[in-house]
Amino acid sequence: MFQNFNKNNVDNKIDKKKLDKNLKIMSLSAIVLIVLFFYTLLKTDTSLEGTSYYGGMIFLFVLLVLTFVLQKYKDQIRAKLHPDEKFGNQMEKAEEQYESGENKTKLAPSYTSVDPITSNITFEDVAGISAIKQELEEVVDFLNHPKKYQKFGVSLPKGVLLVGPPGVGKTLIAKAVAGEASVPFFYQSAASFVHIYVGMGAKRVKELFMAAKAKAPSIIFIDEIDAIGKERGLGSNDERESTLNELLTQMDGFESNSGVMIIAATNKIEVLDDALLRAGRFDRRVFLSLPSKEDRLSILQLYLKNKKSNFDIEKLSSDTSGFNSAALSTLINEAVLHMIKRDGNTLLEEDISQAKQKIQYGKKQIKFLDDVQKDILATYQAGKAFITQKELTLFQEGVQLDEYIYPSKTQLQEQIKAYLSGSVALEVLKGESYAIFEQDTQQAYTIAKQMQEEYKMILSVEALIDQLRSDLKTQIKNNMEKITEFKKRLLQDEQLVF
Ligand code: ADP
Repeated sequence: MFQNFNKNNVDNKIDKKKLDKNLKIMSLSAIVLIVLFFYTLLKTDTSLEGTSYYGGMIFLFVLLVLTFVLQKYKDQIRAKLHPDEKFGNQMEKAEEQYESGENKTKLAPSYTSVDPITSNITFEDVAGISAIKQELEEVVDFLNHPKKYQKFGVSLPKGVLLVGPPGVGKTLIAKAVAGEASVPFFYQSAASFVHIYVGMGAKRVKELFMAAKAKAPSIIFIDEIDAIGKERGLGSNDERESTLNELLTQMDGFESNSGVMIIAATNKIEVLDDALLRAGRFDRRVFLSLPSKEDRLSILQLYLKNKKSNFDIEKLSSDTSGFNSAALSTLINEAVLHMIKRDGNTLLEEDISQAKQKIQYGKKQIKFLDDVQKDILATYQAGKAFITQKELTLFQEGVQLDEYIYPSKTQLQEQIKAYLSGSVALEVLKGESYAIFEQDTQQAYTIAKQMQEEYKMILSVEALIDQLRSDLKTQIKNNMEKITEFKKRLLQDEQLVF
């Protein structure tokens, strides 16, 4: 069925091309015949008379008129021949119009279902995360004053990739960029591109880019880009791959000064196809993590801006470690609902504690970390920070690694140790193993497997992992004091800065 759909599309395109070509041949033939006819009349002495003369003239005339009529009504004829293809025709027409620069502003709404929104969100609506805002201010400035940059031949990245867990404000910040720059905002979830029909996703990507170009300067925001941007070949899916290829083609097909900025969001940068991260595509990356204690305070203050409240907001910001902004918003919402239920007009401690109860055991199950859980997390992260000597936050997943083009065996072993360090620290300091950050362990095994299978550096994955674990145990045992100090700092500040 998928192939059929695609085949029909391709066949239609071929038919259409044939029709155009035939019409051109017909017109040319008619003109050539007429020229030849008059040339013969001029050059020969024979006089043409009677029915053959008039018949010839009428035939040529009819041929010429028919050609012009067919040429004029070719679209209608085509639509009659292929009724299903109507939308494709409109698209193509719009494409032609756009390409020729005609109707640039009216184009988008007439042929596409992809409509932009006008964002009225600004950076003021985004609390905390000031470093991220600063990074994106440059993008806003570029959209507002493109000439300033073009004058010096500076081209801004075509794509900005926002990387971070769900609910930390990736969509919000992209909307804020659109709002600050006062440009249309085209929102698309990548999952919505992937249809059951091969080719539909690619068509939608094409529509989206055409609409955005027509409304330039504009912002295209593609949420959860990993739904189409997974490395090609990983769990083969024709539709996803054709959609991804179209996205890459579209991104290559416009100049960075075209005024279209693509912002995409993902929480799984590691699964993205390398082609997406190459220069000229999403070459700027902005990492967002769960809000810090200060960020949570700013976010809570923002949510409480127009509400009367009388409770310890600082305590709440410290009690909500591990919460994303969306969870904080849910918490305040629930608290307000409780306040309304008890006929109050000021948010009190009791509203907050009722809300806490509700969200912990309710449908969303947003968990508050108790002291025991926090201690486990902090021990894990302290071990990681000690071994890698890198700054990190209490909730930061993964490990920041030095990037090597040609890593040595020793460097690869160091990377594995970095991934294993948290769980080994827990084993040493707490005498127990915990199910925590499983992706770190998986990464350690992935590198070890590469060392064995691809680089033939080792004979056995298990033997290497055992050896490195044992080295780590000794190293951590010899530095318990330092690691405990790291843990305390993490518990207090939720981050470790050297
Ligand atoms: P993501 O795209 O990362 O999944 P969203 O941008 O959809 O997250 O944010 C989820 C919710 O949290 C939204 O209601 C948004 O308004 C709110 N939110 C997220 N980050 C912030 C922030 N920094 N300041 C204020 N509200 C925020």
